[in-house]
Amino acid sequence: MLKATCIKHTLNFKIPGGTSRGILKTKDSWFISIYNSEAPDTKGLGEASIIRNLSVDDRPGFEEKLNWCLHNINTFPDWNPDELIEFPAINFGLETAFIDLNKGAKHILFESGFSKGTKGIPINGLIWMGSFDFMRQQIHDKINSGFKCIKLKIGAIEFEKELSLLKMIRDEFSEEELELRVDANGAFSPAEALEKIKKLSEFGIHSIEQPIKQKQWEKMSVLCRKSPIPIALDEELIGLKPDEIPKLLDYIKPQYIILKPSLLGGFKVSGSFIKEAEKRNISWWATSALEANIGLNAIAQWIASLNNDMPQGLGTGTLFTNNIISPLVIKKDELFYSSTAQWTNLENTFFIRGKSFNTVSLGHYCNEKINNPQIEDWEKRYTNLYCNGLTTRIL
Ligand SMILES: [Mg+2]
Repeated sequence: MLKATCIKHTLNFKIPGGTSRGILKTKDSWFISIYNSEAPDTKGLGEASIIRNLSVDDRPGFEEKLNWCLHNINTFPDWNPDELIEFPAINFGLETAFIDLNKGAKHILFESGFSKGTKGIPINGLIWMGSFDFMRQQIHDKINSGFKCIKLKIGAIEFEKELSLLKMIRDEFSEEELELRVDANGAFSPAEALEKIKKLSEFGIHSIEQPIKQKQWEKMSVLCRKSPIPIALDEELIGLKPDEIPKLLDYIKPQYIILKPSLLGGFKVSGSFIKEAEKRNISWWATSALEANIGLNAIAQWIASLNNDMPQGLGTGTLFTNNIISPLVIKKDELFYSSTAQWTNLENTFFIRGKSFNTVSLGHYCNEKINNPQIEDWEKRYTNLYCNGLTTRIL
């Protein structure tokens, strides 16, 4: 008999992340555990991760649907095929937890040199939107850390300033030395997009992600035909029904597609995108979508098993102050799975209002808060519980 539970964890950004959808300060994830009631210590872990205003799952009824799935876990995946079509993040989380469980719950989901700790995955360095100076500082930091592929979010500051950032980079680093990708997140209007792309193309840009908003297939297909910079579809792939995948690729004919398994509905769905893309000679890479390390690890191991040598978008694990501890580590411009490092033991971890504690650190925290006039309501509650010796039972 299978059992399934989940814990909600709110990730806090170290630096609020500027995107074309506004500033992200926090991001919610639900950690899913699935286990057999005869072996309760062997828990397969998955993560349902949503980005507000982007994920299909960001809709009313998400937590109710997740709870329904956990309650009916013994009949997964024999559900109505439409059951999770509107909840790709839940599908991703469940699929991941099942793979982990079926492989012994060691968080090794797909074996490769990466999962053994012997091979890194090349990743791009992500430059967040912000002021000119903030972006310039990030670019210097990434290049100094050893990144050979940089991805710039564009569309937030004046276009001329963005061009001068690109010029600044190219004055110092040639195309051979540094690959430059840009991501407009749909910020250009169809009327201006081609002209802007032509200006960007003076700086040897490898690719531009989603120059115009999704669901403008005709305009996007014209852009893909005329653009001097190869176009990569990203948001365009989110929310498609399975039969729309070949239709989209045939109609738009993009140069690249970008796969985000937690936004697309998991590895099976992402695999069908890859199959259809490769049939049409369309290249691809994958990226994480601000998951905590459980989801990021699953995506990284999946990519590593697919022999795709392009730099991937997997540098997001270090963006948060309160990610769970994992063996994932970035060295220069590669993501590694350290064979000696450990995972946070989620069994002994409490997630309270975006902070994670083990029993010892919760004790320290509560001790610090006793007699502190600045104490917040939730801290008061847990401090009282702790002082009354009730934490174990209540938490
Ligand atoms: Mg993108």
